[in-house]
Amino acid sequence: MTDSAGYFDYNATTPLCDPAREAWLAAQNGAWQNPSSLYPAAAGVRRELEAVREQFADWFDCDPTRIVFTGGATGANNVLFHHLARAGGVAWIGPVEHPAVRDAARAAFGSHRIVLLPGDRDGRVEPSQLERLLGKSSDRPTLVSVMAANNETGIIQPWAELAVVCARHGVAMHCDASQWVGKEPVKGLSACGWVTVSAHKFGGPKGVGLLLIPEQSPPLRLQVGGPQEGGHLAGTENYPSIAAMAAAFEARLEIVGSAAGRDAFEAALAEQLPDVRVIGREVLRLANTSMVLMPRHLNLKWLTRLARRGFAVSTGSACSAGQAAPSATLAALGVDPEAMGRALRFSAGPATSSADWEELLEALCAVGTDLDKDRHSGILWRGISD
Ligand code: PLP
Repeated sequence: MTDSAGYFDYNATTPLCDPAREAWLAAQNGAWQNPSSLYPAAAGVRRELEAVREQFADWFDCDPTRIVFTGGATGANNVLFHHLARAGGVAWIGPVEHPAVRDAARAAFGSHRIVLLPGDRDGRVEPSQLERLLGKSSDRPTLVSVMAANNETGIIQPWAELAVVCARHGVAMHCDASQWVGKEPVKGLSACGWVTVSAHKFGGPKGVGLLLIPEQSPPLRLQVGGPQEGGHLAGTENYPSIAAMAAAFEARLEIVGSAAGRDAFEAALAEQLPDVRVIGREVLRLANTSMVLMPRHLNLKWLTRLARRGFAVSTGSACSAGQAAPSATLAALGVDPEAMGRALRFSAGPATSSADWEELLEALCAVGTDLDKDRHSGILWRGISD
């Protein structure tokens, strides 16, 4: 096993990649001054910061004035929903949004001003459906927010088509692309007026990201207290982390995500455990993600036993302080609560090989045999610490 071999939780976070670490250290050592200060060394940091902005603008094919550096996706979603809520109206949000959108939208707009868009059986918002809804709604939404790819299932939303529909109706579109950027090409994303990106999902540091804002926005004052980021988001810029995010993004440009290892894993798993259900197997998914409903035993039992064998996996649901909450994504897909308790998410990274997927499969089979034996020999489970 390589160092990262047992790590199958890349959708939760990724280790800092080498180019990001080098860029962060170089900036921390040589470009640590406050870019707003007035002496030459600080002006140098300002220039470097603006060069990174231009580089991202080039990658996203948009004007540099649309790039606002942020403290990660959750913070950015919160400030943008609060900003948009001030304009009044309602927000239409996708049926399987991350809590960083769902809860931020609810807190800013209030539950009564949120409309949950209908999804198909895989939780995708159909562009023709959105077209119909916008066409007949006299109460036009302030914005439509639909993620690029789901963090739990990897299922991809037709965000490009949805952006076209929104543009046709003159409605702002937000896309939380936290799980997309660094895994899939970003070409076309800038057609969404608002786009959220998080660096730690693609080998950059935690607590840094970027927000694409609509063209020619006046100072948005998303966060006040200083003139930084063109008056859009106040606070001293975290240049070392921004430089590291750019290095991580650039490193990912050369990596072509292949689904071969994941697909072979799923096929073999279905052979070993015929009653296993792979979520979204028939539709477009991120190549690194596999969410399955195991045929028996609670997901926390699988997770704990896999951890003992050196594998880090997830139950897929939003976890806070070690508490697994029911998965809103699986609920939206019509999965019943009992089956939800058997969900496991495996998410791979650029270093994950086919051999790593095979080792995960072997470990799952071994754990399954152990769990079956324990059940039959009457061993009582003692919960997560077992
Ligand atoms: N949005 C999605 C789709 C995510 O998967 C995550 C991370 O779990 C977030 C937002 C939150 O990102 P951050 O950790 O940068 O706040």
